[in-house]
Amino acid sequence: MMLKFYLCLAFVQVVFGANRYVIDSVSCKDDAVNAAVRLYMDNAISKAGLVAKILAPKAHFEPIGKYVYVDIDNRSDAWKQTRDKSDLEIHCNGDYITPLQDSPEPNINWRDEIQGLPVLDDDSILNIKDEKTILVAVTSPARTWKEGETWPDNIPEVITFNPWYIKHAVEKKSIFNSDRIKKALQPSLLKAIKIKFQRYTHAANVDTLDTPELTLIHELTHTALGGLSRDTGGSKSYGWYNCVRLKDVDNADNLAYFALVVDLIQNYKYEVDDKGNLQSFT
Ligand SMILES: [Zn+2]
Repeated sequence: MMLKFYLCLAFVQVVFGANRYVIDSVSCKDDAVNAAVRLYMDNAISKAGLVAKILAPKAHFEPIGKYVYVDIDNRSDAWKQTRDKSDLEIHCNGDYITPLQDSPEPNINWRDEIQGLPVLDDDSILNIKDEKTILVAVTSPARTWKEGETWPDNIPEVITFNPWYIKHAVEKKSIFNSDRIKKALQPSLLKAIKIKFQRYTHAANVDTLDTPELTLIHELTHTALGGLSRDTGGSKSYGWYNCVRLKDVDNADNLAYFALVVDLIQNYKYEVDDKGNLQSFT
């Protein structure tokens, strides 16, 4: 089975699952967007759970904990007083990053109003505010800037979607399912399926299955709870070809694609070869 090959790609030590998820009441206010985000999260967590089951005997790996969505105004004192660092907020735009007036540091000109922290000028979250960005989402994990500092107990982790990406996904009803796989099997559709938010120049067949679920698995591995993975290849961290080339257990997309492949094998009876082509088996 090709599965052995993927085990080389990603031998993970990841714990998915913050105990409380809060979908931002302002940026994800639209009912369709809110419902889609919830569905994408559920699907992402369930795919991550498949990986947990497979790797549990082989690695220090815990299955996904139980999680609940908390319907609360996440800007209220009621939430700020009870939240903690194992909570995860999901935002649908970067409006909560606001300009910082009279900054004492030349390289800090923005402030994160959710985590209550200054934002360095080179932080990737600022790209989310740029309509031309190719980033589809950014995670602000519970990670301090300086060694020796500890992350405050009452500050949650945050995943922020590129607003144009999530809007596009909801409009197109982008979702991982058997219909999507059937489309991926037709090479002529490769170009049609994803152009707008392509993060890599050379797309493999399996890359057409890159839906918000895959994005969320990727982002979850960036959280402290998910193992603080990185994008180890810089701008060449994403997509099938880069994952095969990197074979890096710390690279977030390797972990996300691993979960995708396990799902394809176990639930859809498709393998993926090293060129990223899908092949059915029975
Ligand atoms: Zn990443």
